[in-house]
Amino acid sequence: MSEELNPFKIAQEQLDKAAEVMKLDKHAHEILREPMQEVAVHMPVKMRDGNTKVFNGFRVLYNNARGPGKGGIRFHPQESIDTVRALSAWMTWKCSLANVPYGGAKGGIICDTKSMNDVEIEALSRGYIRAINKFIGPQIDVPAPDVYTTPQIMAWMMDEFSKIQGHNEFGVITGKPLEVWGSEGRGDATATGGMYVLREAAKMQKIDLKNAKIAVQGFGNAGTFAFTLAKEMFGSKVVAISDSNGGVYNPKGLDFEKLREAKEKKGSVQDAKDVEKISNEELLELDVDVLIPAAIENQVTKRNADKINAKILLELANGPVTPDADDILMERGVLDMPDFLVNSGGVTVSYFEWVQNIAGYYWEAQEVYAKLDKIITKSFNDVIATRKAYADKKMKIAPRTAAYIIAVDRVAKAMKARGWY
Ligand code: GLU
Repeated sequence: MSEELNPFKIAQEQLDKAAEVMKLDKHAHEILREPMQEVAVHMPVKMRDGNTKVFNGFRVLYNNARGPGKGGIRFHPQESIDTVRALSAWMTWKCSLANVPYGGAKGGIICDTKSMNDVEIEALSRGYIRAINKFIGPQIDVPAPDVYTTPQIMAWMMDEFSKIQGHNEFGVITGKPLEVWGSEGRGDATATGGMYVLREAAKMQKIDLKNAKIAVQGFGNAGTFAFTLAKEMFGSKVVAISDSNGGVYNPKGLDFEKLREAKEKKGSVQDAKDVEKISNEELLELDVDVLIPAAIENQVTKRNADKINAKILLELANGPVTPDADDILMERGVLDMPDFLVNSGGVTVSYFEWVQNIAGYYWEAQEVYAKLDKIITKSFNDVIATRKAYADKKMKIAPRTAAYIIAVDRVAKAMKARGWY
């Protein structure tokens, strides 16, 4: 990984930029540049071929001044301590901006789930929880799903943790299936929250979403729900989508069911009929109204930022845009809505799940969506208001920097109140 694309360096650079603009106290800045705790674990798993394979994983607690650590667990072949560090920092800002009572954390295991069966994945998931069990808990650090981890995996992990404790501990992990007290609405929460942000951003930019063309990068949880919800909620046309093999394009709009079937039966959306194949790079540069990166980090960089044609860039993935692209996008007039605002719906409904688990009292879907809408719309308005306050002082800042200023200020104030500096 090149230094310029090291996600943790990027996370630090973003913080530094905000710290300078907001004149952050230097001690607070120093504390917030590094994670509080990093755990590295090694889990042996008996594989189906008779061999025992040792997997490496991490859990990083970035900051817990405002509450227990919170953040997903990724299963990814390219996982590294630096990706997990960066993602744990972003979780800290995400929880703070949403104003939910959590700090930030993240976990990751280096593995390729595509080459593993369910028995191996279950054994790995349980092994990981045994390895990190002392570092998690409803009041310590609460994991959740992320890239290539599912509600089923969360159920296995909760079960393993509960067995170690000797009693059920549903609130140790969120994103669980409903059968074991997940929350209504958690499955599509990341994309739904993103759609609420899109609704507000489009209103502000006077873009009619009913006639808008949308391109989505990624066919995981966030990407697939973004596709179906954009059509359902606004009647927008999704003209392109991709998976890790590449993308498909149809200017008249794509048919989700056909793509899902092709992905399920043949392995890629590119195997669907009546579509033009495009690369992931081409997808990003399409002439669309809204571009939604919903896969992984470092997709829009200084190399392609000047070729982005979308009016709104909705960062549904974590870290899809690098700092050197930020300024180019701003100059081009692309409204780039930052990841830790756009995708905060996931953790916000995770928070609802945790609250319901602790209370033992469960809400209906409508209640979940109404509460989510209220929280994320407020975050959006806060970001726009902060941006305007700086513009009034003749400082032009990106929405990302405005979001950082709000989030960092809350964490710094909590640390100050606790006497950390
Ligand atoms: N993995 C998701 C994220 O990056 C959700 C985290 C959570 O629900 O705790 O925001």
